[in-house]
Amino acid sequence: MVRTYGICSLSYVPNLLIFLLFFLCTSRVVVSLPEDSSAIISRFQQYLQINTAQPSPDYSGAADFIFSQAKTIGLESQSIEFVKGKPVLLLKWPGTNPDLPSILLNSHTDVVAAEYHKWTHPPFDAHLDKTGDIYARGSQDMKCVGMQYLEAIRRLKNSGFQPVRTLYVSFVPDEEIGGHDGAEKFAQSEEFEKMNVGIVLDEGLASTNENYRVFFGERCPWWLVIKATGSPGHGSKLYDNSAMENLLKSIESIRRFRASQFDLVKAGLRAEGEVISVNMVFLKAGTPSPTGFVMNLQPSEAEAGFDIRVPPTADEKMLEKRLEEEWAPSSRSMTFEFKQRVSTLNEFGKPVVTATDDSNPWWSLLEGAVKKANGKLGKPEVFPASTDARYFRLRGLPAIGFSPMANTPILLHDHNEFLNQAEYLKGIEIYESIIKAYTSYTEHTRNDAYRDEL
Ligand SMILES: [Zn+2]
Repeated sequence: MVRTYGICSLSYVPNLLIFLLFFLCTSRVVVSLPEDSSAIISRFQQYLQINTAQPSPDYSGAADFIFSQAKTIGLESQSIEFVKGKPVLLLKWPGTNPDLPSILLNSHTDVVAAEYHKWTHPPFDAHLDKTGDIYARGSQDMKCVGMQYLEAIRRLKNSGFQPVRTLYVSFVPDEEIGGHDGAEKFAQSEEFEKMNVGIVLDEGLASTNENYRVFFGERCPWWLVIKATGSPGHGSKLYDNSAMENLLKSIESIRRFRASQFDLVKAGLRAEGEVISVNMVFLKAGTPSPTGFVMNLQPSEAEAGFDIRVPPTADEKMLEKRLEEEWAPSSRSMTFEFKQRVSTLNEFGKPVVTATDDSNPWWSLLEGAVKKANGKLGKPEVFPASTDARYFRLRGLPAIGFSPMANTPILLHDHNEFLNQAEYLKGIEIYESIIKAYTSYTEHTRNDAYRDEL
């Protein structure tokens, strides 16, 4: 990237010189890029300008754009609709040895909604400011990654590179609302089975320092509702076993547990994704009256809801025991139910994680490829929330969460989400290196762990 800024000093110079300086000042005040890079940034902006915000994403606009890109690059493409109006866009670059397991680069086309009035630049303008920052919803999460995959492939194709393994690029819908009609159905489909995928790359998070963040698993949501029952009574009476007292004892116990987990993060002993987070999200109790609640009656029922996130490295059995014995014990007239409970184990009963050591050749290849492109990887982490990668890991496949954005504030789902063009361009080089390494790897390590279990 070349940055040039004009500087003016107009005193005591001949007219011609004034004209020349004026010309230079007005024509060179903005950041300028080599022609190739300008075209790359402009394609990124075009994708960002398609409004794919939930709850009514323009999926057909995104499909038209991605397919037109695939055509100019020379990739095979198809649209698979597991649910009408929600296309999974699948691009293919056939390898010279189609018998080897393939590589899948996944990204989602939808983005979360944006509150327009809280943004400095409109969220679907993809405004490029003087410092090279591109402002748009999806600039970090994760239209950047989807386009970087394509730009890396475009360059490799132009350089005459031939992949040995087949490379697939998928653009899936609905990740921001759980991925049930997108990646979940895709990962369980016959089409997916036929692709013979060996490794999946999916999204990560921006990093505020120079090390790229990389994720090998993610926390599983357990949405828990606990309910207490007890004898109703006059508001003036002190007695044991009221519903409110029973519920409060549980809440106190849950709060102590929450504090113990949070203390580990505060002390720097665990990363956010490595502890069990518990947050109370609702409280429901009381006897309604026309003016609010009856004030002299202790109710017979009380409920509380919690969003719990469980790392795949946690012991599910221990947590269940705690729930049954301390948080909602039947001895205290408590019951519980899960509004959602995602298991930390895959279909083979193993924790849903991807190995990040020498036992996983895809991990070593990624490390080497990032290094070769002058990037640095941080310590592998557990993703604190959920992504589509879990659907592939649940099938026993290795999946790595990675979005190459270093020295960038984490702004996914936030106002004024942006990515600097230099960081975006650097990410393309990183993917070029990864794609080269992955598609050239000839050892036949089919997702071995997965096959062995079958
Ligand atoms: Zn995302």
